Amino acid sequence: MAPNFQNRIRCLREWMEHAGLDAILVSHAPNILYLCGFSGSSGALVVGREWAVLITDGRYDLQARAEVKTARVRIYRGDPLDAVGKVVEGRRLRTMGFEAHHLTVAQRRALGRAVRNSVRWKQVPGAVEALRAVKDSFEIAELRASAKLASRVMEQVVPLLRPGIRELEVAAEIDFRIRKLGASGPSFETIIASGPRSALPHARPSGKKIRKNELVVLDLGAILRHYCSDLTRTVYLGKAPPRVRKMYNAVQEAQAAAFASIRPGIPGADVNQAARHVLDLHGLGRFFVHSLGHGVGLEIHEEPRLQSGAKTRLRAGHVVTVEPGVYIPGFGGIRIEDDVLVTPRGAEILTRPRGDFLEL
Ligand code: ZN
Ligand code: ZN
Repeated sequence: MAPNFQNRIRCLREWMEHAGLDAILVSHAPNILYLCGFSGSSGALVVGREWAVLITDGRYDLQARAEVKTARVRIYRGDPLDAVGKVVEGRRLRTMGFEAHHLTVAQRRALGRAVRNSVRWKQVPGAVEALRAVKDSFEIAELRASAKLASRVMEQVVPLLRPGIRELEVAAEIDFRIRKLGASGPSFETIIASGPRSALPHARPSGKKIRKNELVVLDLGAILRHYCSDLTRTVYLGKAPPRVRKMYNAVQEAQAAAFASIRPGIPGADVNQAARHVLDLHGLGRFFVHSLGHGVGLEIHEEPRLQSGAKTRLRAGHVVTVEPGVYIPGFGGIRIEDDVLVTPRGAEILTRPRGDFLEL
C-alpha cells in the first residue's frame, strides 16, 4: 500500500473552497510530509486550487524529486519561505492562508514583503492537522505496525529489570531495541521513573538504581516509517503491597471505562471524564494530574485530544492514546497507556499486551 497524496490534497482543496482561499502556504514539516511525501527538514508547500509547488533548497534536490510526485519541485537558495513570492508571482491570488501556529513573527513579516500587497493573508490554524487527525487505511496499517514494534520492545525490556540496574541503562536498552527492530528512533525521550520518581509523570531517566520493592514506570514509543507509537507500562519489583495493588486496579479500571466509552460521536472531553470518574470513585481523582490522551500519527502529540474542554467528537479513523495515571508525591506513580483506533463500532487497541499488573 502507498499513501494517496492526491486524495489528501483534494481534501485540502475542498476545505480551501469552503474557507474562501485561493491558495495555502503549508510550512509545518509534518503537514508537508502528509500532503506530498517530502520528508526533508527545510521546505514550504504552496497549494493552489489547481496547482501545488514544493519549495526546498539544493541539499534536498534529489530527495524531493524522488519523494514528491503530486507537486512541482522548485529549488531555491536559503529559507524556502523567502521564495514563496517567486512561486505565486503572476498567479491571480486574492486570499492566501498560512499556518499561524507554525510561523514566527519575523517569518510572517518577511512573507508580507515577499508577496505582493494585493494578496490578503488569512490565518488558518490547524487546517491540515484536522485532516491528518482522521487516518486513512495506509496510515492505520503504519500505526498498527509502529504500535506492534513498541509493544515488542516493551516485552523485551521488562524482563531486564532487576534490582541494581540504573534507569539510564534501561532507557538505553529501549532506544537500542527501537532501532534494532527497524524503527528510525524513539518518538519522544524515553521515560523510566522508579520508586518515588515514578510520581513525576514526565521524569527523565536518571542515574538512579532501581531497587527491590519499587514501582517502575516505562513510557516508550517508536517512529516507524514516520509514524509514532506511545506505550506505558508500570511494574513492581517484588510483591506489591495492597496500597499499590489498589492503585493499579483503579488505573486499570479507569482505562477500561475510557475504552468502553470510545465510539464515533463522543466528545474527547467525555472520554477523559469516563476515566476521571472512576479515579474519583477510588478517591484518587486529585492524583490524576494530566489529561487522558492525545492523537498519535506523524507527530507524537496531535489531534484529537482527550481532555476536559475538548469538544472535538471522535470519528472512525482517529488514533489516540488512553493513558490514565495516578501520582502520589513521595510515594510513587502508576500509568498505563495504550494506543487505540476509533472504529465505526467502538475501539480497537493497537498496543499489546494488555496492562496486567506485573510483579517481577
Ligand atoms: Zn507515553
Ligand atoms: Zn502519550
